[in-house]
Parts: sequence; C-alpha cells; structure tokens
Amino acid sequence: MSQLSPVLTQATPVVAVRGEGVYLFDAEGRRYLDFTAGVGVTGTGHCHPRVVEAAQRQAGRLIHGQYTTVLHQPLLDLTERLGTVLPEGLDSVFYLNSGSEAVEAAVRLARHATGRQNVIVFDGSFHGRTMGAAALTTAGTRFRDGIGPLMPGVAVAPFPYAFRLGLDAEAAVEHALRGLDHVLATVSSPGETAALFVEPVLGEGGYVPAPPGFLAGLRERADRHGMLLVLDEVQTGFGRTGRFWAHQHGSGTVPDILITAKGLASGFPLSAIAAPTALMRKARPGSQGGTYGANPVACAAAVATLDVIRDERLVDNAAAQGELLLRGLREAAAGVPAIADVRGLGLMAACEFQRPDGSPDPATARRAQQAAAELGLLLLTCGVHQSVVRMIPALVVDSDQIGEALSLWSKAVTSATA
Ligand code: PMP
Repeated sequence: MSQLSPVLTQATPVVAVRGEGVYLFDAEGRRYLDFTAGVGVTGTGHCHPRVVEAAQRQAGRLIHGQYTTVLHQPLLDLTERLGTVLPEGLDSVFYLNSGSEAVEAAVRLARHATGRQNVIVFDGSFHGRTMGAAALTTAGTRFRDGIGPLMPGVAVAPFPYAFRLGLDAEAAVEHALRGLDHVLATVSSPGETAALFVEPVLGEGGYVPAPPGFLAGLRERADRHGMLLVLDEVQTGFGRTGRFWAHQHGSGTVPDILITAKGLASGFPLSAIAAPTALMRKARPGSQGGTYGANPVACAAAVATLDVIRDERLVDNAAAQGELLLRGLREAAAGVPAIADVRGLGLMAACEFQRPDGSPDPATARRAQQAAAELGLLLLTCGVHQSVVRMIPALVVDSDQIGEALSLWSKAVTSATA
C-alpha cells in the first residue's frame, strides 16, 4: 500500500473526476465553480472541445518527438503561430515543460548573453520552486527555508506594492525605482548584473499589478546599464489580464526575454522563453534543452489554445469579465473592515485581509477561502503572508458565472467574518 506524500499541501479536499469550462465535478457529481483554473492554467476552460480534439488527434500520430533528436510538426506550427502574438522583435522561441524550467533557461541565456552573473528580482517575487528558480523567489520563506544554499548571485529590490507601502501608485513606483538604484549602487553593480526579472503583476506574492511607470522605469535602467529586462509572464500571459500580455497595458515596454507557461497549452505541461534571435544566438550550443521539451501533444494543444483565444475573443472577454468581477468584489468588500484592499487586472483579482491593527490577516483569508469551497466556489490564497484571496477563473467565464461567484463569495465572507 502506498499513499500520496503528506508533503503536498492542498487548498481543498475535492477529488475532481471531470472538468468542463469553469466547472469541476467530483465523484458524487457535485459541481464546483472553479475560480482557480489550476492556478491560472486552463484559460480556455477545462477540456475545451477544440483543445481535446487537437490533443487526441496528435496522440494518435506522435506522442513523443524529442527535439534534440527530431523536430515535429506541432512544434513548427506552434513556433509560427506564436509569432502572431509575441511582442515585436522577440522572434526566437525555445520550449521547456514548466515555468520554473523556463525561468532557469532565461537565467542561463541572460548570463551567456551578457557575460555577467547576477540577477535582480523584486520583493514578493515568485519565479518557481526548482533550486535555481527558488533562489529568485521571495514570496515567502516557505519556498526557501531549510533547502539552501540556493543559487548565489540574486539581489532583491522593492516592488511597488502601493497598498502595503501605504503610498499612492506614483509614489510607490518612485520608491521602488529608487530602491533598485540603491541595489545597483550597493549590492549588485550594473557590470555584475545580467538581468532584472519581474512579474508585471506580482502573482503568488499577492496579486499586485505593477503601477504605470514601473516597467518603463526598469526598461530605462536596463538600457542604461546594458542589463536585460526579463518579464515573467508565466501567470499573467495568454490573455489573463485582459491584454494578451500583461506588459501591454499601456506601458509600451518590450522585454528582452519573455517567459510564458501556464495558459500556453490549456493544462498540458509546456513553457517557453522568447527573445530576439540575435540574443538567443548568444546561448552556448547545448546549454538549453530537456527530454520532454516541446512535447507534440502539448504543442498541438497550444496551437488549439491560440485558435480558441482568437476565435472566441477571450482576451476581450477577460477584460470585460475582469471589470465586472473587480466591481463586484469592491461592492462585496464595502462595510467589511477585514477586507482592506481589492485589486486586480483583468481576470487576476484579489482581496487582501487585514486585522484592525493593520497587520496581515491570513486566518480570515483562509476561513473565507474554506467557506467558499464549502459553498462550491474554489479559490486560492496568495501573498507573502497568505492573507490574500485570489480569483483566476478561465477566460471563457461569462457574466452569469461571475455573478454566481460573487454571490457565493459574499456569503463566504459573511461566514468568515461573523
Ligand atoms: N513564475 C510565475 C510568475 C509563476 O506564477 C509560477 C507558478 N505559479 C512559476 C514561475 C513557476 O511555474 P511552475 O510551477 O510551472 O514551475
């Protein structure tokens, strides 16, 4: 007899047997409104018929190709199709299986391309759990304690978390950029710094959109000092925030390296880094790869994902439903002092819980998340102190489902704060 390792921490006790759109079903046929989307993965919803059909068709033709041995058609098709959505100039793509691997691939590429060793990340960052990516992760000591020493050469600068800093957006950006300049002057000089790694919306660290001006400020410093700007859009990409990429919200900032995963293949393990070909050429031959990278079934599912996002106008839907969700969450928070901040971008929405003394309140956040699950609404917590409840439904969510979620959420908050 074996059992699942107790090392796994799980947000709900649900055993899912089937998924359809924004719903999950358990063995008893109970239906759950899934506002976790597998941590922001199933953008096209669970088991979108076109994704299922593409994957089934590909599984009957070729399941494993191994890209260091042979190429295959879904990989070529996906590479061509990504050209229609990638930012201008990022015309070279390389595939891996998970966000963490892609982050590490970006570190390798940045070090090779610049000949410099260090990277700078931003306070509250989550870039993954593998030993390299964990070194870039500052979203909580639980991701680091007792597993080190981690990869050296990582410095941490402030993120413009306006609410926690008690500043308005503009002042928070100024504070964060000044902090970065300080790190460059004191800890990791420009000549030692290969890249800045940043999430356009802090994800696991609390669902904090970078206010306007922050990414542009990073771009300016990267250009000034010959450092690369790496945007980790693992959670924010593929329409999640109401633009195809989160960095396209107004800033006009283009990264040197873009990292994507999660929404890319609707649940099949696939990730990628994209960069200008001239930059990719600086990676030393053989320095990137892996047995399962660019799996044919995952690539076919990713092509179908792109089709669905385009044909069903899911990026626009994410923007519209996201507004509805945020408005509803604000209404639900009115008169609830425990919810101190409601924020989000597109379909990344969050409520931050706080005690009367202003300290983070993970206990109430957890109670609200658990109460919601009992009512049939699946949610996740996040944040450095896990005091934030986040909502990340599939991009196919409609306004009735948003309404249903908001009504369950209000009940959950009432029971958690009673
Ligand atoms: N970067 C970001 C921004 C993420 O949100 C995550 C996963 N939550 C990762 C990297 C790591 O991805 P994975 O779990 O696929 O390794």
